[in-house]
This record gives sequence, C-alpha cells and structure tokens, in this order.
Amino acid sequence: LQLFKHGLAYKAKMDINFCPSCKVGLANEEVVGGECERCHTPVVRRAKEQWMLEITKYAQRLLDDLDEVDFAPRIKAQQRNWIGRSEGATIRFPILDTEETLDVYTTRPDTIYGATYMVIAPEHPLIETYASRIRNMDALMAYRTEAKNKSDFERTELVKDKTGVRIEGINAWNPISEKELPIFISDYVMMEYGSGAIMAVPAHDQRDYEFAKNFDLPIYEVVSGGDISTEAWTGDGAIVGSPLIDGLSVPEAIEKMTGILEERGLGEKKVQYKLRDWVFSRQRYWGEPIPIVNCPTCGHVPLDESELPLCLPEVDSYEPTDDGSSPLAAMEDWVHTTCPSCGAAAERETDTMPQWAGSSWYFLRYLDPHNDEELASREAIETWMPVDWYNGGMEHTTLHLLYSRFWHKFLYDIGVVNTPEPYQKRSSHGFILGKGNIKMSKSRGNVINPDEVIEEVGADALRSYEMFIGDFEKAVSWSNEGLAGTKRFLDRLWFAFERVDMNKRGYSPELEVQIHRTIKKVGEDYEALKANTAIAAMMALLNEYYLQDSIGRDEYEVLLRLLNPVAPHITEELNELLGNPPITEGKWPAYDPDKTVEDVIEVPVQVNGKVRFRMDVPRGAQESQIDALLEEEDAYHRQLEGKRLIKRIYIQDKLISLVVK
Ligand SMILES: [Zn+2]
Ligand SMILES: [Zn+2]
Repeated sequence: LQLFKHGLAYKAKMDINFCPSCKVGLANEEVVGGECERCHTPVVRRAKEQWMLEITKYAQRLLDDLDEVDFAPRIKAQQRNWIGRSEGATIRFPILDTEETLDVYTTRPDTIYGATYMVIAPEHPLIETYASRIRNMDALMAYRTEAKNKSDFERTELVKDKTGVRIEGINAWNPISEKELPIFISDYVMMEYGSGAIMAVPAHDQRDYEFAKNFDLPIYEVVSGGDISTEAWTGDGAIVGSPLIDGLSVPEAIEKMTGILEERGLGEKKVQYKLRDWVFSRQRYWGEPIPIVNCPTCGHVPLDESELPLCLPEVDSYEPTDDGSSPLAAMEDWVHTTCPSCGAAAERETDTMPQWAGSSWYFLRYLDPHNDEELASREAIETWMPVDWYNGGMEHTTLHLLYSRFWHKFLYDIGVVNTPEPYQKRSSHGFILGKGNIKMSKSRGNVINPDEVIEEVGADALRSYEMFIGDFEKAVSWSNEGLAGTKRFLDRLWFAFERVDMNKRGYSPELEVQIHRTIKKVGEDYEALKANTAIAAMMALLNEYYLQDSIGRDEYEVLLRLLNPVAPHITEELNELLGNPPITEGKWPAYDPDKTVEDVIEVPVQVNGKVRFRMDVPRGAQESQIDALLEEEDAYHRQLEGKRLIKRIYIQDKLISLVVK
C-alpha cells in the first residue's frame, strides 16, 4: 500500500509471459530459455491487466550503491547486467511524406551512416497509424499473429534465421546520410525494449547483418577493421565512409555525432536501462492478496490500514482457473465488498503478490518478531541493520537480491529503515555435484544422503569434508575418497591424544613458528570463507605433531580450538579430556605476529623433469608442509589440470619434483 500511495504501484495492460500448464503469469525472470521455470512448459504471451512496481525509478541508485557494499564481484556483475545501463542517443528518423518521425534508441550513433534500413516491432502502432497507406496489411497482420505466440526468448535468442516483412507504402529518411530507408517489421525487435524500433546497421550488428543478408539489403561499412563480406564487425576502428565524422575513433565519433544530432534537433543523448518494471501480479491462490478495492467510480482504492493484513479466504479448492484469472476471482463472497472511499458496491483485487514480496523484507521481521504495531521497532532496526553478511545460493543473487534492495531503498525513502542497502556483504557458495561433476538429483540416483554419511563416518567427518572439499564459491564434485581422507585426519587427531604430555606446557621451539602461523592462517581463512585451506594447514600441523616425541598439552589444545568450528563434537570431547572448560565458551587463540615471520626461499618446482614454476617455501620446511603449500598455488593446479599426480619428491630447501600423468 505504501508503494501504491507513493505512486510506485500501478496497473497496466501488459503482454505477459503465461504458462499454460501452471496457468499463471510469469515474470521475465521466471522464464528460463523460453520455458516456465517451474514446469518447463513453453511460455506463451497473453495480454493481461497486471499490477506493476516501478523499480525502474530506482535503476540508477540500484547501480550506484553497488559501490557501497561488499558483494562478491560476480554478484555485482550480475546486478549490473540485469539493470543493463547503457549510454546512447535517441535519434528521430523522419517518415517520408508525413510530419512524423520514427524514434530509435541506439548506443552507436557513430554508425548512423551505416543505417540502411529500419525495423519496428510487429506490434508497433505505426502500422495502425498508416494503415491507409500500407499496401500489404494482410502480410503484416499474419506476421504479427505469428510473433504473438512466441516468447521473448524465442524471438531474440533462438531464431537463427531472421524473419520479417517489409512495410510497403511508407519509408523513412536517414537525416545524416540523406538516404531513403525501407521499414520492416521483425520479431527480433521488441515493443518493450527502447521504443520498439531500431535503425539497422548491418555492417556492425550481427543480427542486422543476418537480416540484411536474408533480404538482400545494402551493407555499408562505417567502422574499419573487420571483413564485412563474412560477418558484422563489432570491434573498434577508425570511422570511414561518414563525411561528418571520418577518421575519428568510435568514442570520439559517438560524442561528435550526438552533438550534431542535438544541434540539428534530430535527437539527443540518452541513458537507458534494460531493467523493466516489476510485474507484481500473480493469478494464484497462494500469495498475499493485493489490498486494493476496485470501485466503479473511484478506481483503485487502498484498503484502510486498520484492515490489514488482508487474509486469504479459507476455501476447499484453490486450483488456477482455465482462463488464467486468479482463483480468488471465483470466490464471490470474498470478492464482493464495499468501496472504502465512497461506500458503493465494489470488488476486491483478486491477484496475489509473487513470492518475492515476502522475501524482499522477511529479515526485517527477525529483528522484532512479536511487534504488532510496526514492521520492527526503530530501536531494533538501529541496533541490527544492515545485515552484516548474507550468504546464499547463486540462484538468488540476481532477482531476489535486486528486488529486496529496491524494496529496502523504498523503505529507506519513507523513513522505515535506517540504511539504503539491506545487506553489507553478499557471498555465495558453489554447488556440491555428484560424481563426474553431474548435478545431484533424485532422478539420476546420485544424491548423497547426509544421514547415511553421518551414520557411516560421523557428523564431524561430514562437516569437515564439506568444508575441505574445495573453493567455497565454486562447484565441486563429491568424492568418497576425499571423505575417507578427512575421516582419517579426524582419526589421527583423536589418537594423537595418547601422545599428549600433560606436563609439557607452552609451544616447543621446533613447532612455535608453525603454530603461530597456523593460528593466523586459520583465522584469516575462515573469515575469507577458505575453510579448505585452513583445514589443509591444520592437517600439516598435525603431521608435524606426529613427528615429535610427544605433543605438548597446549600444542594439542590450540589445534582443537582452531578446528572446533569445523568439527565441534570431537574437538569438544577431546578438550574435555584435557580437563578444560568448553571451547565455545573460551577465546579464539591468539598469535604473536613476530613469530609468524619465517625465512622464505624460492624453490623451483619441476613437473615431469622440467621446471614449470617457482614457489615460496619456508626455509627448512618439513616434508609434511609441502602438500598444503602446493595446494594453494594456482600454478600447481594449472599443471595438474586433467592429470593425476603420481609422485612427489621434496628435497629440503632445494627442489620439488612432481610426476604427473
Ligand atoms: Zn509452468
Ligand atoms: Zn468508490
């Protein structure tokens, strides 16, 4: 309702993506590869009245504020791509023998001399406007009907052969090259994007190129550097064949041509976004009902806030209807109401909100879950917000993230929350895949059931293995051998207890440096979500312990503390056997920075007899440290790509030699 009251929610007749199987409208984001994200039925287009949220008003802020937050680079990139800001120009092409112009948006005004024809979307109203002059109306209408049944994805991505129909009877004029341009309709141009019309520059746009080849249209090179007899040239180069801007670079030409267009009143500079307004209506039962009453005289009237929340009616059947309207529409008792404004008979809005509505702000409720006066108290918001760190799957780093950021900015603008961004830090974990890098799924029968793994090796071994399995952000595949290795590490930790000398306190001189370094590394790695390299360092330390005659009590204890976040059960148990109070009630181990500095030397690493790279190794490093050091070396992983390590030889301070196959 606040969005409505602030003019950010409006109703519009939209061509929407409709899933004939789920019988609901889908947001563009819910259409994947032309199919319904949920049931994979090909999506069709239908015109429907929809509630829309004007997220586009926030496009620039959603972009700018990415500089203020600590999101993983790939997450920021996704946000930027989705918002899709581009700078370019609007250009007005006169339609010959009329007073009107055909307006296009282009990021490449520098290529205007190369514009040899124009294309408009099949739905473009120009066709109606000039119906009396158009000689091939039937062909245009037939094409329009065909296009209507295709999804956006099919129209823009799938089609290899560009199709279209020339509009016979009207032509446009290129005001810069002073040439007459034919106008086509084609489904690769969308009404919703830009103005629904483009200037086609076949020499420098691959889609235009394919279209021009199909229709035998002139292809005129205006940026040098490519070979336009084989394909469009989209790279940089000096401008050619363009008297007003010849010889300039692309950026210079863009600027100069935009200036010329502005001077002559033919166009102006423009910033455009790919981001569309957010289709906020769903025709299904499960969703928050939109608290609006449609009154024949007053129009859309918000419910009084005292009547919120508006609850769903309790019903036996909430199947979607065949005509695509909301199941709520069939519930007459619920639908019929009176207008909050004039009191006349009126009907409730029957569309519901998408699942994104709740996910855009649920975390705010955690701050103050029992507050029935407001979303959360100001005090709670001041104390807790923003969310320090939000980790979640990559499937939620585009839309959920964008929507909740938009929502939060709006709440910020109306004074409900205290920060313009909801999340300070956003990271994302990779998938754990089945054997052979295949996604786990029930149908493939390759799902690893954690309950069974726990039954077999224990919860700590499972946890440790999951933390050790690989780079947190990347997809990795499950390996039973890897699991066994991690289990072995925990077993060794367990049996090391027998070697603990309870009277030996402090760190021994032989181990001191490595212990301080390990404390430092493990702490830093945990924070950086690199539990895998932290565990490798702890494994190396344990190996070192085994090389000693006995393990000091403090030496053992510090390792238990470091490993505790990963393997809490076994470390607490062993810690108790040492006679200590619980680890979780104690402090994180401290290290002495002076003692972490080691004398480092560069050691050549041979692969199959040839030196492939060099690696920094602490002077006098033990055999047991080398694996962990290699593990962190990018060059090592490159050498091993697609190969297997057969043998590793280490000559202290001198050489590492690997045999791979
Ligand atoms: Zn579906
Ligand atoms: Zn009314």
